[in-house]
Amino acid sequence: MIKQSVTILGSTGSVGRSSLDLIRSTKKFELFAITANKNTDLLREQCEEFNPHTAVIADENLADTCYKLLRQSDCDTELKAGRVALEEVAGDSRADVVVAAIVGSAGLNSTMTAAKSGKKILLANKEALVMSGELFMKTALHSGSMIIPIDSEHSGIFQCLSHAPSGLDLAQLEYIEKLVLTASGGPFLNLSSSELKNVTPEMACAHPTWKMGKKISVDSASMMNKGLELIEAHHLFGLDVTRIDAIIHPQSVVHAFVHFLDGSVLSQLANPDMKIPIAYGLSYPRRMETGVQRLKLTELTELEFLEIDEDRFPCLKLGRLAAEEGGSSPIVLNAANEVAVEAFLKNRISFVKIPEIIEEVMTKIPCESPSTIDIIHELDSRAKQLSNQLINKGS
Ligand code: NDP
Repeated sequence: MIKQSVTILGSTGSVGRSSLDLIRSTKKFELFAITANKNTDLLREQCEEFNPHTAVIADENLADTCYKLLRQSDCDTELKAGRVALEEVAGDSRADVVVAAIVGSAGLNSTMTAAKSGKKILLANKEALVMSGELFMKTALHSGSMIIPIDSEHSGIFQCLSHAPSGLDLAQLEYIEKLVLTASGGPFLNLSSSELKNVTPEMACAHPTWKMGKKISVDSASMMNKGLELIEAHHLFGLDVTRIDAIIHPQSVVHAFVHFLDGSVLSQLANPDMKIPIAYGLSYPRRMETGVQRLKLTELTELEFLEIDEDRFPCLKLGRLAAEEGGSSPIVLNAANEVAVEAFLKNRISFVKIPEIIEEVMTKIPCESPSTIDIIHELDSRAKQLSNQLINKGS
């Protein structure tokens, strides 16, 4: 059997490492390329273990350190450095599948390049889709690239829908009444507005059900993760955002619901482990073993579903607003959020300042319709600059 060749963009992150765990255990795939930004030690370890054709260190300042580390290692991997190299491997025709698992706007160009090159893309980097929405989906359609979401909620929806040989069967969209994404509620689900003023980055990163990178952990605690996911679902499944909803489900066992117009509701359940959606994407349209602990249905005595309190978690409201406005709003929302989350992680602003900064930036930058990736980058920079100014003014 010919093995599928996989590139993992962001192999040193949480999603990247889970993807490598699956590749290690199945032996059905070979690794073409892996990439990191700064984590040279882990990149070297991964090269030693998997011997990929290429490794990229995105931060060019670390190129020499990384070359030295790889020279001492027992692998034939070719090392490349910098953002151009990142895009080159993302589009390299020798890989069949790209796992897009870089965090934030830093993943936009490489994810877009993979979409241009007609590959199967396992999409984790939701920020890239939030920023480039229609342009990204059009690019993928044009090149024949199949986008398989590996965000657990979107994978859940994808698994509940019917499929055509080229991917989702789009004819079913008219039978869908609404999509519902579940949210664990994060570590601050039961805190009052005044208690939220004093939470620390460590508390925000201690997620009750998922093990994730820092940025998505904070997004999850603020509910911005659900805001970004509404926009992600709108683009992936082609439904108006008024037909996409989110509810709290603290156990993180049910990942999403699809309500059909006949009153039927389909849903996907699994223990919260990213290996399940990643494995689904890797093996699609088949299935593969993951080693994940099985759900014991008789032990599921409590499955709760609650409304999200948007007064305590205004980021969801902002996400929905950006989705409804469309155009540049999601770009501005995402950029302001990235800067605010970074500032919170560095203890420069409080947790409750995150939505305040995003809202102010969204109000100050008028909505427009970006048509190219350069304009998207320009808007991203403008929103980041303004967010930084607001943070500096307040500190
Ligand atoms: P991590 O922070 O754990 O990993 C991020 C990865 O991106 C690392 O490999 C990091 O390299 C790399 N990276 C960071 N900055 C840059 C840069 N400027 N240029 C190139 N590479 C960069 O993130 P997660 O794995 O948690 O999340 C990745 C994406 O997947 C996010 O978009 C997130 O929203 C999404 N996602 C994650 C889930 C999860 O369970 N973790 C669930 C669903 C979606 P280095 O290690 O060297 O810094």
